[in-house]
Amino acid sequence: MGIWQKEIITVFLLLLAITVVGVMTKLFLPLLFLLMLAIIMRQVVQITRFEKWISTGGRGSAPKMSGIWEEIYFHIYRLKKNDKRRKKKLSKMINQFRQSTEALPDAAVVLGIHDEIDWANKAARDVFGLKASDKGQRIPNLIRFPEFIQYLKVGDYKECVILPSPVDHRMTLQVRIVPYGAGLRLLLAQDVTQLKKMERMRKDFVANVSHELRTPLTVLKGYLETLQDLDDEQSPLLTKSFQQMQGQTERMQHLVDDLLLLTRLETQQKKSLCIDVPALLSQICKEGDALENAERRIQLTLESTGHIMGEEQELRSAFTNLLGNALKYSPGDSVVKVRWYQTKTAIILTVEDQGEGIEKSDIPKITERFYRVETKRLKKVNGTGLGLAIVKHVLMRHDGDLIITSEIGKGSSFSCRFPTARICN
Ligand code: ADP
Repeated sequence: MGIWQKEIITVFLLLLAITVVGVMTKLFLPLLFLLMLAIIMRQVVQITRFEKWISTGGRGSAPKMSGIWEEIYFHIYRLKKNDKRRKKKLSKMINQFRQSTEALPDAAVVLGIHDEIDWANKAARDVFGLKASDKGQRIPNLIRFPEFIQYLKVGDYKECVILPSPVDHRMTLQVRIVPYGAGLRLLLAQDVTQLKKMERMRKDFVANVSHELRTPLTVLKGYLETLQDLDDEQSPLLTKSFQQMQGQTERMQHLVDDLLLLTRLETQQKKSLCIDVPALLSQICKEGDALENAERRIQLTLESTGHIMGEEQELRSAFTNLLGNALKYSPGDSVVKVRWYQTKTAIILTVEDQGEGIEKSDIPKITERFYRVETKRLKKVNGTGLGLAIVKHVLMRHDGDLIITSEIGKGSSFSCRFPTARICN
């Protein structure tokens, strides 16, 4: 029998008893009133006890009850028990998460909408020198490097920023921000001191080796030229060997020159002046035509008179490399178009050839160092595989980018795009 049915039957039986006694004593109405009063009083007492118990958070054992109230207490008790179990599980999970993030070797700081610190792990406290009392402080007030403040302000978090640790200036940190949720951000910092040291060593090594190779190469080249002059061409083997040796020393010299240029691009401070690009291009194209033995393959179109802020020697190297490639990788009688023009957002140099073209899959790779596409060309084309790496670096130093489009058998187009903010005339 259900609990409600039991309650109703009890009330019904009491009513019946009251009716019988009431009819016998002729006191039905007063007795009915008394019964109603007793039932209401009982409920009021139960509610008061319940209210007292629940107001203390339902702590301690529930008061002993019967009927429908026993049922109510039972359900609440069960809900409380489930709630307690869930809370225990959740706090265990939070503890585990806290412990694992505390043990992380990388620094992690949770930032609020106003750049204030919500939480930081042990590594963050160590490398940034944060204290527990810094919670709620704005992070730019604590990490005051201009690069970092700019990075935080701009809000473009695709890249990361390299900073020295505010606690130990010998430590280099790679800092990146990961946005999540509504306006919240996670700041992550990694110690890259060793990595940066190794990178520096690699650059120094390449620079030193390239520099040291210059003198022996010059000596070799000098002796080779002398020997070639002395060669009476009596021995075809000797003549061929001299030619090959000269070809290889020239190749090596180009390699050394390109490597030194790349190292300079990676290590030297940028020096910007307002460069007359149309004049520079006219000169480069003239030199290109001169190299092509009066073939006059280059068509230069100067649609813009725009000068840009930059480093002349670097821009000359980049443009010469692009023009040199267009001439090298296209037939001797085809046209190479060079165009300098401006759009709403950029000022652009495009070098377009009608040459062999580049496979789609090779396009992202050709700007890597030493990458050369292996094709079955009729004529062997000399090169170091460093030209486009130089172009990419130069453009990076000028806030520009390189766009390559190509179609096999039809030709390629290389565009150097500089932001209009660089225009200076
Ligand atoms: P390289 O000294 O070999 O020319 P680059 O870095 O300048 O080195 O170019 C890398 C490779 O990209 C080249 O070996 C060539 O295969 C390809 N390449 C560059 N420019 C062109 C072009 N205009 N047309 C076709 N292929 C090109």
